[in-house]
Amino acid sequence: MTSKLTRRSFVKKMICGSLTVPFLMELLAKELTAEEKDSRQSIIWLQGHGSGIHKSGIWNFPGFHSYLAKHFRVISSQSPDIHSLAIELTEEEKPHILILDGYFSNDLDDPVNNLLKDLIVVSRAVILLGNEASYSKTKPDGFLNLESELLHLVETPFFKLPGNPVPIRHLIGSLNYMILYDLPELDELRRPVMFYSQTICERCQYRGDFEKGNFVRYFGQKEGCLYWLGCKGPVTRNSCALEKWNGTTSWCVSAGSPCSGCSEPGYPDHKGLGLYGQLVSDDAPINSMFVRNASTIAQGAFAVTLAGVAIHAISRKASAPLKDESVFGFEEDGDE
Ligand code: SF4
Ligand code: SF4
Repeated sequence: MTSKLTRRSFVKKMICGSLTVPFLMELLAKELTAEEKDSRQSIIWLQGHGSGIHKSGIWNFPGFHSYLAKHFRVISSQSPDIHSLAIELTEEEKPHILILDGYFSNDLDDPVNNLLKDLIVVSRAVILLGNEASYSKTKPDGFLNLESELLHLVETPFFKLPGNPVPIRHLIGSLNYMILYDLPELDELRRPVMFYSQTICERCQYRGDFEKGNFVRYFGQKEGCLYWLGCKGPVTRNSCALEKWNGTTSWCVSAGSPCSGCSEPGYPDHKGLGLYGQLVSDDAPINSMFVRNASTIAQGAFAVTLAGVAIHAISRKASAPLKDESVFGFEEDGDE
């Protein structure tokens, strides 16, 4: 099977979802163990400070704990022997793939801080796993922005796998790609295009509703597009609609929750819109026709609905007092 997978077909199959996580895990294990133990590609997963929530989708995958123990070196930066471990890693002959996950102290007396740059320099490539490592947006004082303070200062290639959490397929697929071929092709935010090239909307089950203007107006109202409830699907690039969560059972939008844009650098505040603020084309970090179209549709449909509501309200006012509640289930703050 492996020999038939050209680089092109690998990417195509990743994009269309036909390479499953169990298959990718098996393929990676096979490639990793193909060489003698001493010359195998080593994968080091260095864990800094972080909530850990972004990787729950990885840790909870059946069998992944034992898989990790067998094929990765997972090291906590809090480990008591981290200093000697880090020195040992910088002295390895074959360059390792280094996964950095969470925040790392900028204290020069911190043993990991001391060795992080050396570790990065001797790595084949660095993967920034999760939003903390990828974007550092919520970075507390006293911690490093890995990209600007370390990775931009060295030549080691790096890429990002953001998300809250990160899909396991992104990690195992990227590692497979690196072992079978080379570095994956990246987008302008240094994310592999095989996972982050399409917007959530493009593959959403409610895309037809989006285009027809069948918008859900308040939570639990009906099935339909969640754009008015603040869905960031038009400006979020990720493959959740294809891969889904909980063992491919469901995903955010399918469960009735708007996409919160968790794999984008603007997450979670999205320039003041927050998780439930409705996008307009000018707010969108990606100024696509799709978003412009979305805004136009939403504004048009909203105006039509407002007109309908106004007529309805006038006719009701003539017969009975209106209840003190929003017709839409949210505050109409004059955006439209
Ligand atoms: S706006 Fe959200 S719910 Fe609507 S089609 Fe896009 S991703 Fe799906
Ligand atoms: S659908 Fe949106 S919020 Fe949900 S996991 Fe995917 S990118 Fe994140």
